[in-house]
Amino acid sequence: MASGSCMCGDIKYEYTGEPAVTALCHCIDCQKWTGGAYTSNVVVPRTNFKVTSGSPKTWDAKGDSGKVNKHFFCGQCGSSLYTELEVMPDVTCVKAGGLDNGAASLGGKVGVEFYTKDRVSYLHEVSGAKQEPQFG
Ligand SMILES: [Zn+2]
Ligand SMILES: [Zn+2]
Repeated sequence: MASGSCMCGDIKYEYTGEPAVTALCHCIDCQKWTGGAYTSNVVVPRTNFKVTSGSPKTWDAKGDSGKVNKHFFCGQCGSSLYTELEVMPDVTCVKAGGLDNGAASLGGKVGVEFYTKDRVSYLHEVSGAKQEPQFG
């Protein structure tokens, strides 16, 4: 099990079991949403994930697929929390920077990097991570 929260602590969440995959996403939407160079994600079965405190706000972005990528964030402090993609209805993509107790490190393992075509020029590929120019 792992737990996480937003910066102000209003929203708390947790998931059980092992992640299906760990992934970095370098797409422009992830950069805009977080103000960072990429998002780091723990992808977990949606049934294993639950919000335990507070109610996140949501923002629907349209992905390249034309389908909705629902973004969940704290309405009070603005922290980016997780996404649910219409194209992947069975999983939740937890933004790993919100995880507690060092879990943001993804156990030192990145399974895949998405949207490497948009990766900022000062970053290099993570060794051992599958490289995907876009999504899948
Ligand atoms: Zn907050
Ligand atoms: Zn992205």
